[in-house]
Amino acid sequence: MMELAGNVALVTGGLRGIGAATALELAQNGADVAVCDLQQTPEGEQLLDTIRRLGRQVLFCAADVSNFNRAQEVVAEVVRALGHLDILVNNAGINRDHVIWKMTEQEWDSVLGINLKGVFNYSRAAAPIFRTQGRGKIVSISSVNGLRGQPGLSNYAAAKAGIIGLTKTLAKELGKYQVNVNAIAPGYIETKMTENLAADVKAEALKGTVLGRLGAPEDIAHVVTFLCTEGARHITGEVIRVDGGEYM
Ligand code: NAD
Repeated sequence: MMELAGNVALVTGGLRGIGAATALELAQNGADVAVCDLQQTPEGEQLLDTIRRLGRQVLFCAADVSNFNRAQEVVAEVVRALGHLDILVNNAGINRDHVIWKMTEQEWDSVLGINLKGVFNYSRAAAPIFRTQGRGKIVSISSVNGLRGQPGLSNYAAAKAGIIGLTKTLAKELGKYQVNVNAIAPGYIETKMTENLAADVKAEALKGTVLGRLGAPEDIAHVVTFLCTEGARHITGEVIRVDGGEYM
């Protein structure tokens, strides 16, 4: 299926995990893909090679999403190199877990700066382009923990809940320009982010799903891709849980 042919997508934090699966699936559906991430890695090189071999154009920009000015530069670079921008996937994120009485200011600031301000930075940079061209898609990766809260994750849950308020507001601000703005709330997905979590946290998450399975990055990539297609044109301001029934 080449439904996204002619589209240019920018995926933040797209060199591994959910972002990498998303960049690949968007490319498999015909989109040219720009990825920004902290720095290039061998794994990232491989991903971009795979996308290139599909016949798609690829651009890598080194960037920390918490940097406002860099976001403006990256978006300008994407438009310069790939011609335009149609899809923004706000995916970059980190976790720095501690219960509130142990959480440091640095842990709070870094998680809010990357997971929430990062979404503002890139949406702020893309919005004028989407508004002027009268089309665009923004999909941001929130979390079920932003919906329900979770011990040890006050910074992360606050940032992920913040994404939901931001998503609904941007959907209202940009709707008349035919820009769809949505969020996905994944449950536990097996990536680098979760690989070092304690075994009992993983077991608990597995027990919590009604499907009896943990998610894979592709489970999120499929839904991002769908939200970028014509079939999803009437969906905006929505938060879609993709969690095997973990939170309901
Ligand atoms: P991951 O750690 O495997 O990948 C995150 C990517 O973001 C990495 O490539 C990393 O280099 C990049 N990144 C980190 N900080 C950055 C920064 N400051 N600027 C630019 N790039 C940066 O994690 P993942 O599981 O693939 O997570 C992707 C998104 O999904 C995150 O927003 C995460 O919060 C969210 N999420 C993950 C899960 C899960 O269980 N894995 C659940 C819900 C939500």
